[in-house]
Amino acid sequence: MEKKIFSCRQCGYCCHGETTVSLDDNDLVRLVAFLKMPEKEVLRRYLRITGNVVQMKIVDGHCIFYNHGCTVHPGKPWRCGQWPLHPSILTDSNNLESIRHSCPGMKKDVAYDEFCRILKQVIAPVEKK
Ligand code: SF4
Ligand code: SF4
Repeated sequence: MEKKIFSCRQCGYCCHGETTVSLDDNDLVRLVAFLKMPEKEVLRRYLRITGNVVQMKIVDGHCIFYNHGCTVHPGKPWRCGQWPLHPSILTDSNNLESIRHSCPGMKKDVAYDEFCRILKQVIAPVEKK
């Protein structure tokens, strides 16, 4: 079903830029468990904290965990797993166009209503509770 609207090209564009997604408390717990390091060490080495916002550090224009792919795949933040099939697409077609623009894996030939119909089925079982 998902392949009708998206097929990842492993281009890594979504892991590049000057910011990354933010981590919530569960993300931090999962990342610490995956890296098998003390939380303080994970925070010091890999994360940057701005006020209440915790994000991954950026190195050479990409997420510190990016190296020809995600190196922490099982421990990555849930928002990384959600991308690019973001629920905001369902409320505004401009969001679909904007995500299509930044992610080459998004199918371009599916009309907005049809895209939303499929997306609802794809994200329904996996949306964060
Ligand atoms: S930008 Fe899209 S196609 Fe490229 S790696 Fe990210 S999700 Fe996959
Ligand atoms: S954690 Fe992985 S998927 Fe998320 S931005 Fe970093 S490299 Fe990309």
